[in-house]
Amino acid sequence: MLPLNGIPTPEDIAAVMPTEERLSKGPVAITECFQNIPCDPCYHSCKRGAIKAFTDINERPQIDFDKCNGCGSCMSRCPGLAIFVVDATYSDSEALVKIPYEFLPLPRVNQIVTAVNRAGEELGNAKVVKVQNTKAQDKTALVWLAVPKNLMMESRHFLVKEVR
Ligand code: SF4
Ligand code: SF4
Repeated sequence: MLPLNGIPTPEDIAAVMPTEERLSKGPVAITECFQNIPCDPCYHSCKRGAIKAFTDINERPQIDFDKCNGCGSCMSRCPGLAIFVVDATYSDSEALVKIPYEFLPLPRVNQIVTAVNRAGEELGNAKVVKVQNTKAQDKTALVWLAVPKNLMMESRHFLVKEVR
């Protein structure tokens, strides 16, 4: 339960998920932001107007999944690292999950890491496909992971076992 251990419930997660139909159309953002807090940079960062306007800054964000193209711009603006992008169309067997990441060293492209779930439990191997770390992102990198499709809604962080 989130207030006690920081882990959202299945009901929390279900409430913010896009439909299967939307997932089948390509990358889309998911805001796993489950508490009412005074915060709205995600709204201001989305140039497509896909994050609905807040009437109260304490509201939780709501995404118009039809307007979102999964660009990920909002991810590095979120101080809670609570936004992820999932692309279920990456390949027949794998999905892409974009993960906000503020640890060093950054992983390398093609590196195999261990995907973990929201509770920090290991799920299995994942491959780093891309690392975005521009100046505009202000040290919140986006790491694109290719994961087996059945783990795309569970993979929300990763462990780097190899030390450079
Ligand atoms: S991923 Fe891009 S289009 Fe989607 S909500 Fe974030 S900034 Fe907007
Ligand atoms: S920026 Fe992040 S923490 Fe703040 S309201 Fe948006 S999703 Fe939640």
